[in-house]
Amino acid sequence: MTQQIPQTERLLKYFSLLKQRKRLNQSMLFVGDNEELMLRILQGFACEVSSFGCGTCWDCRKMAEGRHPDLKIIAPDPHTIKIQSIRESREFLSLRSFRIPLKILKVNGGECFSAEAANAFLKTLEEPPGHSCIMVCAAHTEGILPTILSRCRKVFLPEEVREVGAAQEASDVASFLRGHRKKFKKRQEFMEFLRCMIQCVHAHLCARYRKNNSLRESGDCEIILRSYTTERLMALEAGMLRVAAAADTVNMNLAQNIIQSKI
Ligand SMILES: [Zn+2]
Repeated sequence: MTQQIPQTERLLKYFSLLKQRKRLNQSMLFVGDNEELMLRILQGFACEVSSFGCGTCWDCRKMAEGRHPDLKIIAPDPHTIKIQSIRESREFLSLRSFRIPLKILKVNGGECFSAEAANAFLKTLEEPPGHSCIMVCAAHTEGILPTILSRCRKVFLPEEVREVGAAQEASDVASFLRGHRKKFKKRQEFMEFLRCMIQCVHAHLCARYRKNNSLRESGDCEIILRSYTTERLMALEAGMLRVAAAADTVNMNLAQNIIQSKI
């Protein structure tokens, strides 16, 4: 098993640290095409349950719907970003924040400013209100005006979609370990979740036996599992393996009861 922390996890960890240090109020340019990861980053900014975004709380759900009161998204209409959108964004940023100590402006299609919109946006970038977090998103840096490039911190998004899936699964496991139940629409989802959960606990047990701390930075699951005694981890793993052996027929609610009784 690789001991490397995936790039996605590293990025989420980075933003979680910025959040802890209250340094998210800045202008950033996200380069790459990875909407799923962008959503996880936004959820991490807003979530009170986990700085990686729990995916299920009110703030996380509103972020996923694009309807969080402290988030505004603007996009090309249909091919260029119009000055009217920039005016509305300035107004939005000047308001008081509602749920989180930030007003987040997400600009999709950062390559597509009309000339007058770009000028107006530069003014916003130069003098943003103190609680502004401006996230310009673009598929690549070509086509981004140099004046915008130079005023934003650049963040390159990894494009491995599998990694995002894995990060989402790990966040689901962490939420389950905290006692939250999970609703599965399909048995396949349940089996995937179980597989991920067994992998997390097993990797943690192995690292403990090897007295290997390389999992220390791997995210919420590891942080929670670290507080378990070895006996408790082994009982949890044994319980999950018993459920996994019957995973294609077991009642999914009952299975969660069995596993949670070992946590
Ligand atoms: Zn949340």
